[in-house]
Amino acid sequence: MKAANFAYHAPTTRQELFALLAELDDARMIAGGQSLVPMMNFRLAAPENLVDLNTVGGLDGIEVAGDRLVIGAMTRQRAAERSATVARVCPLLVETLGRVGVQQIRNRGTVGGSIAHFDPTAELPVAAVALDAEVVLESLRGARRMPVADFGSDYLTTEIEPDEVLTAVEVPLWPEGHGAAFDEVTRRGDSYAIVSVAALVLLDAAGRVARLSVAIGGLTHAPARLAVDAMVGAAPEGEALAALAETARALPADGDGLMAAEDKQHLAATLTERVVRRAGERARRSTG
Ligand code: FAD
Repeated sequence: MKAANFAYHAPTTRQELFALLAELDDARMIAGGQSLVPMMNFRLAAPENLVDLNTVGGLDGIEVAGDRLVIGAMTRQRAAERSATVARVCPLLVETLGRVGVQQIRNRGTVGGSIAHFDPTAELPVAAVALDAEVVLESLRGARRMPVADFGSDYLTTEIEPDEVLTAVEVPLWPEGHGAAFDEVTRRGDSYAIVSVAALVLLDAAGRVARLSVAIGGLTHAPARLAVDAMVGAAPEGEALAALAETARALPADGDGLMAAEDKQHLAATLTERVVRRAGERARRSTG
């Protein structure tokens, strides 16, 4: 099918972009187009106005600013995946991005577009929640920040206002020596996750958990953050890890056409055990 008719707008500056979004009715931004174009072609979306983010300068880029990694919204997923900076300070993102579709999709798809689209089975929002990342939302009214963990309000729906642009994703950095891992179960190797888990762990000198963060995607409309306090002071393996996996199994889940809720919960438990153990092994290797 072909998309319904729309008016195309190509702002070149942020101010022009913000002004257009403030004045236009029924406008949709296009970034990499990897989700929006198929939706428009299937007539699942039929915006009257399409506002191109590709023509606006300065919305991409990767930098470390103080204790944060700042990724411009229009940074292509593949550019972030291949960035030496991201690899050095946030290996979890590199591993996670490598699981987003296939390379051709990541060449066009953007980091901001993936978070803005907030597909419940997308990989990037899961890592972003585990990392305590924030989105920067800008409009003529100013800028605000919001944790990615609070961004999704329903399936494919976020807290962004119609005149706002997601301009950057900010990731607080974990200390050197932390371990991180991501894994997922998919229908096919390169497709969206049915359930996915991202974890970061910092160990003390005795190899016990000093800090842990775990996020699980695919269970409901937004990634769930796992309660991990009971793991602090324990080794990331054995009984403590098995108990954590049971906490994951107890998270609420929605069944869908692909899988029943209790099967998703089973995957959440299995993946949590696997991913936290792997993150722990990586932390041990990087400090030992
Ligand atoms: P677009 O498609 O351009 O936009 C998506 C939505 O976000 C639109 O509503 C748009 O208005 C909004 N938006 C985009 N950028 C902004 C912004 N800066 N501010 C506010 N709103 C914005 N994704 C996965 O996570 N995992 C997969 O396994 C996967 N497999 C795929 C396989 C195929 C065959 C295809 C076609 C896509 C796949 N994707 C997958 C989707 C891909 O990651 C998209 O790139 C991503 O979902 C959206 O990013 P985009 O830049 O293409 O955004």
